[in-house]
Amino acid sequence: MAARRFPGGRLVVATHNPGKLVEIRDLLAPFSVDAVSAGDLGLPEPEETGDTYVANAELKALAAATASGLPALADDSGLSVEALDGAPGIYSARWAGAKKDFNYAMDKVWRAVQEKGVEPPFNACFVSVLSLAWPDGHVDSFEGLAPGRLDWPPRGQHGFGYDPMFVPEEEVGHGFRTFAEMLPEEKHGLSHRARAFRLLIDACFRG
Ligand code: IMP
Repeated sequence: MAARRFPGGRLVVATHNPGKLVEIRDLLAPFSVDAVSAGDLGLPEPEETGDTYVANAELKALAAATASGLPALADDSGLSVEALDGAPGIYSARWAGAKKDFNYAMDKVWRAVQEKGVEPPFNACFVSVLSLAWPDGHVDSFEGLAPGRLDWPPRGQHGFGYDPMFVPEEEVGHGFRTFAEMLPEEKHGLSHRARAFRLLIDACFRG
């Protein structure tokens, strides 16, 4: 079934993260969207009880759409490691603990992979799902993937989260830079989030 098109006007960005709101506002700027955050509207943050990226993105988007009476956009993302059967996956943020320490989280991922005793390359994939939900319960979801492999030790100063230990497949055999060694615009050309955004824009905002 074709995705429902956004007619213009107000859109709730279902995030309480000011950084994500700025990024999403910028991406939607050319499409006459009046983006307002769930935080600004005083909407509660639902618990992420889903067991897939899609389930979590959809439950966040639907909660904001039904509470506000407006269309709402939410995202869920993470790093899925092949040797760990997809972990940390939807728990990527939680692996960093209460202090959000990603040096700790990267170390935990690397040690878990070593304990599996598998041979390199250590294949992994960043995943991003964007869901656009409506007050009547309709929801469309778009998944973007950035395949690559893990490397150690972590390197690079850009980006965030697990970027310093992740080499995207486009860099394999071409310098082996991690996402954290790339300028933001280079990462945006390859990232899971940008890929999911392109699918969302083409289906719901363009034309
Ligand atoms: P959430 O989408 O806010 O639930 O957070 C997902 C978590 O996945 C983030 O806290 C990061 O740890 C990780 N993650 C998602 N996208 C990226 C990325 O582009 N680079 C590095 N880590 C990421």
